[in-house]
Amino acid sequence: MTMITNHMPTAELQAIDAAHHMHPFTTNDELAEQGARVITRAKGVFLTDSEGNEILDGMAGLWCVNIGYGRTEMAEVAARQMAELPYYNTFFKTTHVPAIALSQEIARLAPEGMNNVFFAGSGSEANDTNIRMVRTYWAEKGKPSKSHIISRKNAYHGSSMGSGSLGGMDYMHAQGGMPIPGIHHIGQPDWWAEGGDMTPEEFGLARARELEAKIEELGEDNVAAFIAEPVQGAGGVIIPPETYWPEIQRICDKYEILLIADEVICGFGRTGNWFGSQTFGIRPHIMTIAKGLSSGYQPIGGSVVCDEVASVIGATEFNHGYTYSGHPVASAVALKNLQILQDENILDHVRNTAGPAFRAGLEGLADHPLVGGASVIGLMGSLPLTPHKESRAKFAGEAGAIGLMCRERCFANNLVMRHVGDRMVVSPPLVITPDEINIFMDRARKALDETWQKADKEGLL
Ligand code: PMP
Repeated sequence: MTMITNHMPTAELQAIDAAHHMHPFTTNDELAEQGARVITRAKGVFLTDSEGNEILDGMAGLWCVNIGYGRTEMAEVAARQMAELPYYNTFFKTTHVPAIALSQEIARLAPEGMNNVFFAGSGSEANDTNIRMVRTYWAEKGKPSKSHIISRKNAYHGSSMGSGSLGGMDYMHAQGGMPIPGIHHIGQPDWWAEGGDMTPEEFGLARARELEAKIEELGEDNVAAFIAEPVQGAGGVIIPPETYWPEIQRICDKYEILLIADEVICGFGRTGNWFGSQTFGIRPHIMTIAKGLSSGYQPIGGSVVCDEVASVIGATEFNHGYTYSGHPVASAVALKNLQILQDENILDHVRNTAGPAFRAGLEGLADHPLVGGASVIGLMGSLPLTPHKESRAKFAGEAGAIGLMCRERCFANNLVMRHVGDRMVVSPPLVITPDEINIFMDRARKALDETWQKADKEGLL
């Protein structure tokens, strides 16, 4: 075996990567031509690449490194747990201390009455669990016809067959036979892109009422659940109008539809509370968790389940589970992460220090000629790019071309921002300081200026 290290020349690492590593959500042939950026280490909110660049990670990895990089105490917990019990399963009437302790702590932090956790290795797996759990719940209640699940267009719930079907990404459905049967998608509450002449409040109500119309179309006795992210993340940080969630809650209550809040991004402080459900006053039956549960230091996810659903599921054998459900090392690391979030008052920091500074910074960027406005909640936000702010117009050329250009200018200026179409999205580590937010905004403005100049030169504005 040849030894591959951080000290090898970038080109050599890129060549081996191109020869053997198939990247997710990537045209691999194109990447092989360009060479992947090699990240070698990270500390706090900064990544270092193999060329020695220090890059401010405005996305916390994939919305997950809530406590920031380089926490050696997390490594110590992992090492200790690996030495003591690296693995054991939780099937066949066994358990272990890390899973016991983590489930108790999640239940303590979760909204009242949500005292039960089914562990998974990721958000995708957890959402697959949810599909089977809500259908099993209704079957056990003597209503097996209640099996259809309603989700939303442009939602993201994962990449497996089940979770990808719950998601509403057409370009994903186009490959591999998704969606699976029994999943339906209604419109999303994206006022910026789809609200037309309605006020945000009118639009929020109209989109929520699509749920009622869909339930009536399918028949109340055929619908098991509605699933949604409190704030759509991968869809473009879409913060729904204030009228949206109360109306969704009313409809779920009226028709006895289980409500699944996908908290994979919103959970563990991202919106300033433990869960986005608390920020929006949502009362879910199940919450999907992953990402910020361990701050990405270990792969772990799960379903936080209310007492009523858990009591019905608990009365039967639920024939479902993963080898790594409640993995001891991942659980111990996640528990340490939850302790750090509390010991360092990181949610207070989001609410009172970083969140307001981040909002002010992004709103400050909204005066840029390319930026249509700023949507922010806690430490997630989006900047829709537009050639004309008042009409919220789209660019004349290919959708997403300017967004991609802006992402590349961000990278060139040592800042990670992601683009979803022509919308820039951001979600930095929750520990980001006001000084680091200033660095973020300076680099973002420079990237926006360069994007504007380049787009103008290429006649794309
Ligand atoms: N749900 C949401 C809301 C997500 O944002 C994601 C990942 N971006 C997932 C589920 C899937 O999680 P994973 O990638 O861990 O499978």
